[in-house]
Amino acid sequence: MRIDIMTLFPEMCEAVLGESIIGRARKNGLAEVYCHNIRDYTQDKHRRVDDAPYGGGKGMVMQAQPIFSCYQAILEQSGSEKPYVVYMSPQGTVLSQKKCVSMSKLSHLVILCGHYEGVDERIIEKIVDEEISIGDYVLTGGELPAMVLADSILRLCDGVLSDSECFENESHYNGLLEYPQYTRPEEWDGKKVPEVLLSGHHANIEQWRKEQSIERTKCKRPDLFEAFYEEKEK
Ligand code: SAM
Repeated sequence: MRIDIMTLFPEMCEAVLGESIIGRARKNGLAEVYCHNIRDYTQDKHRRVDDAPYGGGKGMVMQAQPIFSCYQAILEQSGSEKPYVVYMSPQGTVLSQKKCVSMSKLSHLVILCGHYEGVDERIIEKIVDEEISIGDYVLTGGELPAMVLADSILRLCDGVLSDSECFENESHYNGLLEYPQYTRPEEWDGKKVPEVLLSGHHANIEQWRKEQSIERTKCKRPDLFEAFYEEKEK
């Protein structure tokens, strides 16, 4: 999968996506990620990329031209005719695991990060397929949300994690939260690891994990628990 990120702060994105599992996947050629500085595409002689909002009001708005020129350069570099374009926005659909799974099947994704008061509406109309939010709160810029989106998608791509089991048992994949996890030592701070996990009996361990998963979803996220059973009853 290829992801291109259009941002005013490419170093911020590189710092995150160059590390750990995603950094390794990039080095091993399992994922391609390119961070583009929108400022490099401005036609303004002072390298400006924003201006005051029409109609007045506080803050600055990112102009359409540098974003569109950056987008055109990505099309040229990649040879893609129409990648899927997402604008990170607090006005978008809130990101979910289901959405990440469907987006992990895309071959080419372009992510636009806004800053200041956001971007000129006309660039959204021109190139954006979908607006995605990472939650109902407002951040300074789209870089952190873009990192969240890229990480949550890329870890689902073939070969990035050692096995698809790594994410298939995780919270949210099947609508429930994951069971509790333990590691060595067997006893810590006076508390023992549940006996069943030491038994080596795979069927019993699986049954225990299933029960725990249901129990903790019911307790921690009753909204998910209800939705899970409603879905099952359909
Ligand atoms: N004026 C905009 C509004 O009220 O809808 C908010 C602009 S915000 C300060 C600047 C940029 O941060 C946005 O253009 C967007 O790219 C990003 N952003 C902020 N909160 C976000 C969120 N919850 N999810 C995704 N992106 C967000």
